[in-house]
Amino acid sequence: DTMLELAGVKKHFKISQKDVVKAVDGISFHIAKGESVGLVGESGCGKSTLGRTIIGLYQQTDGQILFKGKDTRSLNNKERASFHKDMQMIFQDPYASLNPRSTVMEIISEPMEVHNLYPNKKERMNRVIELLENVGLSRDHANRYPHEFSGGQRQRIGIARALALNPDFIIADEPISALDVSVQAQVVNLLKKLQMEKGLTYLFIAHDLAMVKHLANRIGVMYLGHLVEMTESRELYADPLHPYTEALLGAIPIPDPDVEDARERTLLEGEIPSPTNPPSGCVFRTRCPYAMEACSMKKPEWQEVHKGHFVACHLYNKEVMGGDVRKHIAA
Ligand code: SF4
Ligand code: MG
Repeated sequence: DTMLELAGVKKHFKISQKDVVKAVDGISFHIAKGESVGLVGESGCGKSTLGRTIIGLYQQTDGQILFKGKDTRSLNNKERASFHKDMQMIFQDPYASLNPRSTVMEIISEPMEVHNLYPNKKERMNRVIELLENVGLSRDHANRYPHEFSGGQRQRIGIARALALNPDFIIADEPISALDVSVQAQVVNLLKKLQMEKGLTYLFIAHDLAMVKHLANRIGVMYLGHLVEMTESRELYADPLHPYTEALLGAIPIPDPDVEDARERTLLEGEIPSPTNPPSGCVFRTRCPYAMEACSMKKPEWQEVHKGHFVACHLYNKEVMGGDVRKHIAA
């Protein structure tokens, strides 16, 4: 059962007469109902833009986004209204995303009022209290203002608001990266608990692999507007294929005995190139320790190397490499 399917999705921003930022440049993957998928990459790789495009804050430049089998560009009014209920977003910065002049009650009620859900005020207030309890707060918090809360509590309020319309799909854009390390695990555990209780499907956006490790069944790695690798979380850690994924794993600050054992650290040199003027061929080639001639000539194809394990890199392409395909698929 597929919740979300992307096919060749692009989001380009025209910034001048001749300059186009190719923030998202041809992304295809799907998310099944009940899955948690992580999307990881350095800042500027296009992951937040992709999240915003999926939820409709931006209109894609090209490609298709299917939500529950329906193309999000051609929904009728009724379908559009239920799309806006069913898919919600949790933002990185709980400080910026809550109106400082509204009480918690008003903040969480607002989406219900907009969608005319629980039109009876008493019922709506009860619903807000239930949501506060769902996220580990209580009715005593309902009449306070955002500034009276800690960062972790504010993110809980943001989560309660995202749940107000009973969504089944949530995009969380770096939901813990603005929080103190001491409360990050609590918010991660809350998100897991809510998934179990409410049968949610998640897309987590993160800049490092450490956070999504505990949340995602599958992980996609993004670089400069492209998806470069995607597979089950455990497989990504045990057997990363793309040179960029190897580098990201090498850059995880906390030594992980599962990961560190036999692998050498690959250190990334240089800056991410500008998405206005991406390298020809493979977008990673200017920082790739394995770059070869073919890498500047030809864009690597998105190919399934093992079941469910996709990568875009010439090292795994039999046509490019002849008999010399890198590990695992040589046979
Ligand atoms: Fe490196 Fe070439 Fe693979 Fe790109 S296609 S990641 S440059 S080896
Ligand atoms: Mg971002």
